[in-house]
Amino acid sequence: MDVTVSTGPERPRQSGKQGPVHRVGSEVLQTMGTEGHERVAFWSDPDVGLRAIIAIHSTRLGPALGGTRFYPFADESAALTDVLRLAKAMSYKSAAAGLDLGGGKGVVIGDPRTDKTAALFRSYAHFVDSLSGRYYTTEDVGTTVADMEVIAQETRYVTGQAIEHGGSGDPSPATAVGVFEAIRAAADHLGGSADVAGRHVVVLGAGKVGGALAGHLVEAGCRVTAADVSADALARLPEGVETVDPDRAHAVACDVFSPCALGAVLSPDSIPELGCAAVVGSANNQLATPECGEMLHQAGVLYVPDYVANAGGVINIAFEMGREYRWNEAEAAVRKIFDNTKTVLETAVRESITTARAADRVAEERITNAAKTGLPPLAI
Ligand code: NAD
Repeated sequence: MDVTVSTGPERPRQSGKQGPVHRVGSEVLQTMGTEGHERVAFWSDPDVGLRAIIAIHSTRLGPALGGTRFYPFADESAALTDVLRLAKAMSYKSAAAGLDLGGGKGVVIGDPRTDKTAALFRSYAHFVDSLSGRYYTTEDVGTTVADMEVIAQETRYVTGQAIEHGGSGDPSPATAVGVFEAIRAAADHLGGSADVAGRHVVVLGAGKVGGALAGHLVEAGCRVTAADVSADALARLPEGVETVDPDRAHAVACDVFSPCALGAVLSPDSIPELGCAAVVGSANNQLATPECGEMLHQAGVLYVPDYVANAGGVINIAFEMGREYRWNEAEAAVRKIFDNTKTVLETAVRESITTARAADRVAEERITNAAKTGLPPLAI
């Protein structure tokens, strides 16, 4: 385990002065020990207004991949808590997706609407570069493909580039294909057939992922009902899609409820009202609390864990790392979400545990059994 504190670019040191005593170090190391993080690095570059943290949870399967979140965290402690949590989540997501990638995350403390500058991202790129390929960044909440292009001018350890620059572009279409495969796997698990024609799917959130998913479902012969707070999003849906009030979407009697908007939709309030046989969607953090996984199980609702169903985006960008991106190669890997989902659902049955716990177990086993030890390769 390693905590690296850097003052950013080289600058003269003030000598003879004792700095303030920080208690945070011992707490970070304690959390890292409990949660299994390998490294946390801090970067400060006051000249460009940059304060950033990168957490690497694991590189046992390969370089740690995870986006950079640009967010006005209340304080450094909140930023640190988030980056540690999100880095671990990325390890599990990549491991369960069958990728030879570890998990990491970056956070920039600031308001993306007002604090973004090219100089700040160039400095951040040097931070990423200083980790020598153990961490690859990409976009996340508050950062865009355009920001990644600035970062790419200073480091090669960045992915999620625009298509016109040889990258994979917007990950949403791949995420939608992956959710579609997870829905097929859930149907197969419940009814013995992955043919979803005639099934009724309710999609909550008809944005980039939910809208594309609705298209795949219609094409496959499903009955589709969609809900969105945006009339524009609903207007872009394919013909034949019915609509429902977003507040009631979860209660519609259907085969699959697909949350593709916000997190925490599966709560002690909503679970007793669910009208579906299965929940399979792209939204992150669908369970309001970990106990909701058990509540779903008790309610007889099959839950495909969010990070298993929504891994299409990360699988897609993995195909941009260290190689020429080709959609057909990425798509074949994204469609393996069908098998990944079945593995998780079967593990849950075999071990009499919730599907949420089963996904964690599948991921943990892959990380633990990783043959690679020591430093990971610098590129996959
Ligand atoms: P998006 O912003 O394009 O779409 C979200 C849609 O949800 C919008 O149309 C918005 O109007 C709607 N919405 C917002 N609040 C709502 C509410 N209360 N009720 C109903 N609809 C509401 O986002 P997206 O890229 O499609 O992502 C959807 C979800 O999937 C997010 O939770 C995201 O974190 C997650 N996700 C996305 C990807 C990806 O590749 N885009 C990958 C993994 C996870």
